[in-house]
Amino acid sequence: MSVAAAMPPRPGRRHDLESTDKAGSAISPAKLRSTLKRVFGLRALRPGQNEVITRVMAGQGTLAVMPTGAGKSLCYQLPAVLSDALTVVISPLIALMKDQCDALAERGVAAVQLNSSLDAGRRLESEALLTRGAVRVLFTTPERLADARTLGLLQEQRVGLLVVDEAHCISQWGHDFRPAFSALRDARRALGRPPVLALTATASLPVQREIAEALGIPRSGILCHGIYRPNLRLAVELPQTEKERHEIILRRLQALDKGGAIVYCATVREAAALHGRLNEAGVTVGLYHGKLPVKERTVAQEAFMGGECRAMVATNAFGMGIDKPDIRLVLHAQMPASIEAYVQECGRAGRDGEPADCVLLFREGDRALQQFFAGGQAPSREELGAVWRALASHTPQGGWLPAALAEMARMPQRRLAQVLAALRSVRALRGTEATGLKAAKLESRDVIAAATAAAEQRQQNDRDGLEAMVLYAKAGNCRWASVLAHFGEALDGGRMHCGHCDSCERFEKLLAEQAEPADEAEAPRAPISAYEPGQRVRVRRFGWGEVQESSTEAVRIAFPRHGVRDIHPDFVLATAKG
Ligand SMILES: [Zn+2]
Repeated sequence: MSVAAAMPPRPGRRHDLESTDKAGSAISPAKLRSTLKRVFGLRALRPGQNEVITRVMAGQGTLAVMPTGAGKSLCYQLPAVLSDALTVVISPLIALMKDQCDALAERGVAAVQLNSSLDAGRRLESEALLTRGAVRVLFTTPERLADARTLGLLQEQRVGLLVVDEAHCISQWGHDFRPAFSALRDARRALGRPPVLALTATASLPVQREIAEALGIPRSGILCHGIYRPNLRLAVELPQTEKERHEIILRRLQALDKGGAIVYCATVREAAALHGRLNEAGVTVGLYHGKLPVKERTVAQEAFMGGECRAMVATNAFGMGIDKPDIRLVLHAQMPASIEAYVQECGRAGRDGEPADCVLLFREGDRALQQFFAGGQAPSREELGAVWRALASHTPQGGWLPAALAEMARMPQRRLAQVLAALRSVRALRGTEATGLKAAKLESRDVIAAATAAAEQRQQNDRDGLEAMVLYAKAGNCRWASVLAHFGEALDGGRMHCGHCDSCERFEKLLAEQAEPADEAEAPRAPISAYEPGQRVRVRRFGWGEVQESSTEAVRIAFPRHGVRDIHPDFVLATAKG
């Protein structure tokens, strides 16, 4: 049992209406506006913020999915200022907490942080302020919240709002999963179930539901405010060789006239090799990946944030919480594992609202690389059984730590992490990897069967994620339209074209060309209704292809060398059916 679960909830502190509707807050709109102006220097809330803040002020559990730069922080900062209770902000990003505290302090809001970056003196100082009730906003990590001492301190306070930032880390299946996030449910109970505000910039529908369920947020409390960022120009390039891939990267970096750039690579090896080649070519770039010593990583990150080094070659270890407003280019040298990951990584570009480019380089072989790194085969029934039996055989003092469990089950730790994720997803685990794990009281046969099914489902999800990414790279329709469709969204008014991605620009260029007098009408143009699946047609730019489907707006054609593209019917030169 985790520390939090071991603590009984304090009577009398319970917020009875956990996540159901509650009488509206007593704060008038006028008071809200004046506080917004006085403390934050803002005249009005953005539409998304308004809705979230209204729910939070009414004590209703809320999950807000908002793009980076949409002003997520204000959604808890304004309620925190207007409330006389403590707001606790849980975030995995220690690096940002100091800045967040300082920014609030500048506005006259008492904020402190509790995390492993503080020395003993500073920690005691923060704790003393908390005990005196002199703190309005506390920033801490999920690990620290699960700690008995911190929980004990917080139980003495009235916690009015629990904010979970980067809430997608709660998803067992997500690639950013942090085990300590799974202990939040217990911690919340120990604090008397205060209302929750979960925040994330990226969460597919299943992940949204998982977050809501874990934190007791009703379905009606899930608010999505769009992932569309009109200032990001999406594009895909299809290099034919590795040499061409490097040339494109070099050209893109050399063309960068202001701001910063991130070049994401699929693996540490690719990142290190590209870093070497770019520096050899005279382009100064930093390097960041999870296998570098912490000190080197910090130095690289600071040089990038400070602008001394304008471009960073990195793996996906780089970027969570990187809040640099003027990143003008996010280039993926290889494709990421899913559209979710792609959108999240692209979201680091153009936070200042100015135009920025997001370029994906894709070659067919890249898919195999990702499949390899997706972890190969799903954990088998035998592997799940071995770990479960070890867990259930007995519980060492405090619970199992991963290293001991790996030895007992004779399994590499990387594999064990996959097995534990599968067991956790079927709620067969208690506690966390950091504090010690133990088996839930469940029937072995049921656990193993359910976890096996869950592991297979996960593998399928990973495959689907990759497939969606490949489809994005190969499709010729509007990039934003296809990204939004993946999240169940659409462009405003159901438009088919964003007008500023590479596909849309190509389409507009074709339109312009078409407006000029044609000099080589090689085949008679057929009426729209003539295009049928399987029909061979020709498009001047891409050559011959086969129609997959057609509408009055677009004909989807598979070209042997250019992939599947949506072409305006005006540009399709028909031949005989069949
Ligand atoms: Zn577009």
